[in-house]
Amino acid sequence: MLEARALRKSFGRTTALEGVSLSIGEGEIVAITGPSGSGKSTLLHCLAGIIRPEAGEVTFAGQRVDSLGDADRTRLRRESFGIVFQHGELVPELSAMENVALPLLFGGHARQESLRSAMEALERLGVADCADQLPGELSGGQSQRVAVARALVASPKAVFADEPTGALDSLAGELVMKELVRTAAAARMALVIVTHDNRVASYADREIVLRDGRVAG
Ligand code: ADP
Ligand code: ADP
Repeated sequence: MLEARALRKSFGRTTALEGVSLSIGEGEIVAITGPSGSGKSTLLHCLAGIIRPEAGEVTFAGQRVDSLGDADRTRLRRESFGIVFQHGELVPELSAMENVALPLLFGGHARQESLRSAMEALERLGVADCADQLPGELSGGQSQRVAVARALVASPKAVFADEPTGALDSLAGELVMKELVRTAAAARMALVIVTHDNRVASYADREIVLRDGRVAG
């Protein structure tokens, strides 16, 4: 469903990825691990169509992602992907519930229905209490859970998450992982998680280890 072939990406003189190939099936949960600076975030960003590799190909459901123009890549992300960034990235002017409703509103769903689904997603992630708060009023852990709710709410075909439990204590981290895995299984979505937490990696069907921008195992 999601394939990368011979990806290369550098930043100035730093080669972040070199010759990375992988294939991720529908409903598969994959953890990307490796030391800091090994290229995990860069790989995730290439797979999710956020950045473009200099060489190689990314294909999602038979469609080339890397060669799409910016507008088409944005549309693909909105329609098919859920993305959890490392640092929340919620819209500061909107409440937690409105932030979670955004993917549904973009998808053309009615406002009341979207807000109701958003509320349910917040409940599943244990942050229903935060529904009416603005992102600036949330703790790091709360924002992260709201961001996960937003990534899952529209049942995307693939979810990409960069350290989704990084700001959470172990109990909250477990709740987030269980909800990610449960939703992925129910919707047959591919789940790609960057993590350096072994407990998170243990939820994955498969682990891809990066070292110096290459797949090490
Ligand atoms: P990881 O997620 O494994 O910590 P990254 O993908 O963030 O690794 O980074 C891989 C390498 O690329 C590192 O050397 C990092 O400093 C560099 N890098 C990543 N993003 C940028 C950027 N936007 N500009 C310059 N260098 C970057
Ligand atoms: P990680 O924990 O994955 O290494 P960082 O917190 O180091 O991530 O990086 C956060 C963001 O900064 C990422 O979007 C990455 O692309 C960018 N980045 C990483 N290294 C550099 C760098 N050397 N110069 C500029 N941007 C960077």
